[in-house]
Amino acid sequence: MTPTTAGKVLEALKAVIDPARGADVVSLGMVSGLSIQGGVVSFSLEVVPQEARDKEGLRAASAAAVSRLPGVTKVNAVLTASAAAPAPRGPAPAAGGHQVAKTDIPGIRSILAVASGKGGVGKSTTAVNLALGLAAEGWQVGLLDADVYGPSIPRMLGLEGQRADAEERTLLPKEVFGLRAMSMGFLVPPDTAMVWRGPMVTSALQQMLRTVRWGTLDVLVIDFPPGTGDAHLTLAQTVPITGAVIVSTPQDIALIDARRGVQMFNKVSIPVLGIIENMSYFLCPHCSERSEIFGHGGARAEAERTGAPFLGEVPLDVRIRETSDAGTPIVHAEPNGPQAQVYRELARKVAAGLEASLAKGSGPIITVE
Ligand code: ADP
Repeated sequence: MTPTTAGKVLEALKAVIDPARGADVVSLGMVSGLSIQGGVVSFSLEVVPQEARDKEGLRAASAAAVSRLPGVTKVNAVLTASAAAPAPRGPAPAAGGHQVAKTDIPGIRSILAVASGKGGVGKSTTAVNLALGLAAEGWQVGLLDADVYGPSIPRMLGLEGQRADAEERTLLPKEVFGLRAMSMGFLVPPDTAMVWRGPMVTSALQQMLRTVRWGTLDVLVIDFPPGTGDAHLTLAQTVPITGAVIVSTPQDIALIDARRGVQMFNKVSIPVLGIIENMSYFLCPHCSERSEIFGHGGARAEAERTGAPFLGEVPLDVRIRETSDAGTPIVHAEPNGPQAQVYRELARKVAAGLEASLAKGSGPIITVE
């Protein structure tokens, strides 16, 4: 069968009306990235992230309209968050592309970025348990899940499927285990087919930073999206981070990525408070014997090479995973257990690092576009 054409696809999409705005998706300029390869048609519908939930029906209707065209065997239709989000509140940005000093967010004393060179190393688990460890030190702690690609903080805090509450156009963080938490997972349902463009991640994060009613915080812990690409660099540049920790597993491959993480923060003058080696050794739940499965100690050596402090090691431990999956992280679930002690010790070092960084007045140089 002859493949369809862009003209026919757009014609079909002109019949799909966005009921909220009373016009079709083509006239509204929502369709982008149209590609036709044989019988496979792919396109995006551009939305603002807050509307993703409401636009899911529109996406499905668009896909259905195109799939009815002769010659079409498969349709990939995704929602893309790339339209401008409502302007964040807060200080007006300086004009021009010049560098300005650190931006202060009222009420938030320090910001800790928990980052990793790649996914799956236990960054979110570490972020949550560090946040709880800092709270156990008496700090008022916020937790911001900026891992928009796979927000896992709602699950780890037992808040999966919950939506964010708003009051007078301000988002309210969830109060849980003594923390104030916010995640893109509370705004966009996890099953939404959504593609994030770099600038949109930055703008969504800015919004969560500035329009969430955080109140007074000693520290806002940000679970950074994994990776060290350009989008991450921009994020690091546009958020006033007081210090960063890099989470890595001991394997060489992960360590190479961890080094890139250190370099990324160095590039934008954000102090790296240290590297944490996660899943460092296996702690047998039966006999408490340590087995060094991956040849532990790689992160310490890597930290020495990069000049970043080595903060400590967290064992590969089944209770850490189980409590995380169950929505009651180990520092909350078993505060007197050996695993919680590991995180609390790390939290004390992080707290000291943040204080030192604040005292020095060191902070990122922020470029305002
Ligand atoms: P990331 O944020 O780097 O993608 P996660 O924190 O989501 O990684 O962790 C990935 C998986 O590994 C999760 O199932 C988590 O429970 C598990 N995990 C993380 N750290 C540990 C650990 N120290 N011991 C056992 N399991 C862990």
